[in-house]
Amino acid sequence: MFPQDRIENWAHGQGLWARVPAEDWNDWRWQMRNRIATAAQLEALMPLTAQEREGLRAAAGRLAFAVTPHFFNLIDRGNPACPVRLQVVPRAAEGVVSADESDDPVGEEKTSPVPGLVHRYPDRVMLISTDRCACYCRYCTRSRLVSAVRGGGFRPQLEAAFRYIAAHEEVRDVLVSGGDFLLLSDEKIDYVLERLRAIPHVEIVRVGSRVPVFLPQRVTPELCAVLRRRGPIWMNIHVNSPRECTRETAAALERLAFAGVALGSQSVLLRGVNDDEEALRSLVHRLLMMRVRPYYLYACDKIRGSAHFRVPVARGVELIRSLRGWTTGFAVPQFVVDAPGGGGKIPVNPDYVETFLPDGSVRLRNFRDEECRY
Ligand SMILES: *Cc1c(COP(=O)(O)O)cnc(C)c1O
Ligand code: SF4
Repeated sequence: MFPQDRIENWAHGQGLWARVPAEDWNDWRWQMRNRIATAAQLEALMPLTAQEREGLRAAAGRLAFAVTPHFFNLIDRGNPACPVRLQVVPRAAEGVVSADESDDPVGEEKTSPVPGLVHRYPDRVMLISTDRCACYCRYCTRSRLVSAVRGGGFRPQLEAAFRYIAAHEEVRDVLVSGGDFLLLSDEKIDYVLERLRAIPHVEIVRVGSRVPVFLPQRVTPELCAVLRRRGPIWMNIHVNSPRECTRETAAALERLAFAGVALGSQSVLLRGVNDDEEALRSLVHRLLMMRVRPYYLYACDKIRGSAHFRVPVARGVELIRSLRGWTTGFAVPQFVVDAPGGGGKIPVNPDYVETFLPDGSVRLRNFRDEECRY
């Protein structure tokens, strides 16, 4: 049995749109055209809670609401607590803003030398290539600029970004993020990668994308050919709950892997979505079955109106402890807090060291909480 055959979930095999011909369903443009993007469309497809109705009203004018049919089919429509639903359907709690939340919680604007370029770390930059995503995550750190809901003010200045990177020889690593880079046309993606490859000191190019999860149909052979030609590309996908790991996503990831793309994943620790041992374990196991190495688990940034998603950092550490030693070492992501204000990602780990002793030895505890001395 191929490992990915253990992924039992098919988006097209369940839920709605059963009569849509496969050639439409598998066409990413059909998926984009048929996104559920208004409260009325959503209400027609499933019963909403009062909280969600109010959330949808408040979302207009803030972060856009949009869900592809593919991702929508992963929602358990009878369950208001469905982990897929919680990520994309607005709730009234988005309107509750606490004093320590903001529009730019990790201080991207103040380390941005060119609109759309963030230079926070010494040797690497992040390029925000577009403000569009296939679906919008309600806890998005970049909701100040994605989805164009506030009049579409964001325009990445790609040429200025290329000039900046070319002029800064210390930049050896470029992370192309968004929004979602893979929503650009193949030609545009090829162009951006070509320009980055032409800069001699850029050693690695990586892409952050949720497309393989929200819109796996976008991972076409033509796109894979571009990524292969401009490779090696490192790609981090973003996936939070085991339900999101579908056959379609597994197949898209296989196409990417066969094009030479090195795959990792980032997850955000979210209340009700993945803050329990079973969900997190199942998620990382499925990622490995799909050739994806878990990379980061993020504490949810303090974006405006996200308190209902937040999980205590101590609980995150407990969850990491529940994985380390109990499962495949490389299934365990690094838990990080992205420092408020722009200090960068800070690893937060369970502590296995009891004491460092003066003779150079150390008293430790293993994953079973047994003491040992080294
Ligand atoms: C996360 C991030 C990076 C990449 O960080 P790594 O720890 O190297 O994966 C680079 N720039 C910015 C602004 C980031 O937020
Ligand atoms: S895919 Fe990423 S950039 Fe887009 S809405 Fe979700 S978290 Fe934000």
